[in-house]
Amino acid sequence: MHCPRFTDFLIEEGVRDKITVIASGGIRTAHDVAKIIALGADGVCTGTADLVRLECIRCHNCESGRGCARGIATTDAELMNLIDLEWGTQRIINLFLAWRKELVRILKRLGMKSIRELVGRTDCLVHLDYMGKQASNS
Ligand code: SF4
Repeated sequence: MHCPRFTDFLIEEGVRDKITVIASGGIRTAHDVAKIIALGADGVCTGTADLVRLECIRCHNCESGRGCARGIATTDAELMNLIDLEWGTQRIINLFLAWRKELVRILKRLGMKSIRELVGRTDCLVHLDYMGKQASNS
């Protein structure tokens, strides 16, 4: 079954180069970034990965009461002091530097020099659920 991608529609309409597609949701590793770029996105937007890097405990209380008891998602001055700005900044920098390093490794394995080369390259992806079927069909 062919499942057209959103970007296929943009290509058919002749506007793919005029639109920047940013994808989000469930992006927790550099491999997730690579997969979503290969599916056609130009870039990604992260959230949970950053929060967890700041030691978020996923308690889902971001918008209730005084806000985050860890001092991450709050405007309460006392709670905000729970996080050291330099420490938090360095943690986020480390996260994205590690992802960058892994993405460079992935691109190298695919013989690519830039992540732009990976955009829309669904041929680089394999759906594990269909791997056996692909092997038996060939
Ligand atoms: S309240 Fe703080 S610790 Fe809890 S989910 Fe939100 S950011 Fe994470």
